[in-house]
Amino acid sequence: MPVIGDPSLTRPADDGAGGAHCEPDGSLNRLVRLTRRLFSVDVAILVCSDADDAWQAVDGTPPPESQPWAIECPVRAANGRLLGGLRLLHGQARGFTDEDNQALKDLADLAAMAIEQRHVRSGERGGEDTWREEARKLSLAIAGSGTGVWDRNVVTGEITYSPGWKALLGYSDSELTTRIEDAYTRLHPDDLDYVRAAMQDHFDGKTESYEVEHRIRCKDGSYKWICSRGKVISRDHSGKALRMMGTTTDISAVRAMSDRLKRTADLVVNLTDAVPGLVFQCRAVPEGGSWFSYVSAGIWDTFELTADDVRASTTAIEQRIHPEDLPAYRSSLQKAAAALTPWHLEFRVCLPLQGVQWRQGDASPRRDADNGVVWHGFVTDITDRKRAEFELREHAATDALTTLPNRRHFMSRIAAELTRIKGHGGLGSAVLMCDLDHFKHINDTWGHAIGDGVLQHFANMLRTQLRDTDLVGRIGGEEFAVVLPDTDIESAHRFARNVQRRIADTPYLSDGRHIPLTVSIGISALHTKDDDAELALSRSDRALYYAKQRGRNRIESVFFR
Ligand code: GH3
Ligand code: MG
Ligand code: MG
Repeated sequence: MPVIGDPSLTRPADDGAGGAHCEPDGSLNRLVRLTRRLFSVDVAILVCSDADDAWQAVDGTPPPESQPWAIECPVRAANGRLLGGLRLLHGQARGFTDEDNQALKDLADLAAMAIEQRHVRSGERGGEDTWREEARKLSLAIAGSGTGVWDRNVVTGEITYSPGWKALLGYSDSELTTRIEDAYTRLHPDDLDYVRAAMQDHFDGKTESYEVEHRIRCKDGSYKWICSRGKVISRDHSGKALRMMGTTTDISAVRAMSDRLKRTADLVVNLTDAVPGLVFQCRAVPEGGSWFSYVSAGIWDTFELTADDVRASTTAIEQRIHPEDLPAYRSSLQKAAAALTPWHLEFRVCLPLQGVQWRQGDASPRRDADNGVVWHGFVTDITDRKRAEFELREHAATDALTTLPNRRHFMSRIAAELTRIKGHGGLGSAVLMCDLDHFKHINDTWGHAIGDGVLQHFANMLRTQLRDTDLVGRIGGEEFAVVLPDTDIESAHRFARNVQRRIADTPYLSDGRHIPLTVSIGISALHTKDDDAELALSRSDRALYYAKQRGRNRIESVFFR
């Protein structure tokens, strides 16, 4: 029995009639039919035994198993790969010439070409199937993400929606018209203008794509926030939009969340803006930079700066700090940052409009994830409090009638002067005690009010005689003390004589009446060996006593022993 090619292919790869995986197409069946007719055999079989494509095409009735005549020619692809075989079966033995053999080979080659073409086509179909599957998955994914798809014919005004789009608004697939005019009626009236404008901009080619967030009415009448994105996918030769496709995503939940966040942020801003002074968040990085990441509106009143002035750096703030307070300002912040302890400081600022003002800063530093420090705190205006404190101190230190330092304040100043000369030496300082003569008589004669006027008159005269460095105080009823720094006793006598002359020359005037005045003065020196200033004062007091004893309107001195 003549066999051409590979004898293993004399049996079909599959015994099922009509092909195993896939029916051969019409051209292959025709080729098998033609083969049988050409060779006048009982059966012609084309077997395809490719791994992905196993089948057989049969024409004719198979002969009885017992006496088959068979011949087969392998079917090979252009690259030599074996695809199957073309087989002839006949009931009785018969001859097969070289010419027949060649013809069978030619037919096998034709079959190989047809099989290869079939493979190419099925490969393309497979690719298409893969693409369809991808598209199916994509549309499922889009539907699952709460996104719908729309397709708009810009010319005819027809718009079609995916079932997912309609579901977004609560409509079934069979509902909704395909007219663009109807689509616009579903838009929230407040959003209509900017949606139309965004669409027009994209039609006009001003934007790369169309993207807009707006409200849209659902079937139940409620409004939903959506994000609509789209793009013109075809234009005519003049650039006019023809067709546009896009997606619509339900962003109600995102909007609700962002509304909540915005309300929270607004609350923080409103609260901090309502707080008098400046509320801030400041950040410092390990490399050394610092800036204000948040400042309340109080930045203006507090530092006469804007948020922009301090957004990138804290330098503008430092430039507002009073130069005398800047070292304390810097070091206190550094100390608090290093130990992560609360910062508290009262300091002065120099402002272009308000001038010198007092501020109080309080803040808490905290280490952040990048090893920097983040501060939260506030700065308040304490100018009024500071002024009140100052006035209170002044008040506590000042004699109300004469506005001279009172006894307590004078004593603290003379004590400071003693400390100064102990450290400094020099000429030493003179201490004078001045007491108006027969003052009781003035009170008794002219009344207490006139007496008060006399005391003020004497205090004012005394003040005019003093240098900036001299100290003065009202020590008692009509007693005044003076310290003349760097002054010897002789110079102090000169000063005292001058005081006597001035008061003699300027009697107190009241209602046209002249009230003559004289004063007795006791002088001593503030000595570096004095344990305290009271000692020098009591020496002057003793000298004053002598002046009174020796007839008043006199100057006496007592020396340190
Ligand atoms: P001498 O020459 O010895 O100093 O006699 P004097 O009268 O000045 O001294 P004396 O100590 O006897 O009297 C002082 C008087 O000063 C008694 C007191 O009522 C009066 N006096 C004390 N403080 C005030 C005051 O604030 N206003 C008035 N008007 N009188 C005062
Ligand atoms: Mg007196
Ligand atoms: Mg007196």
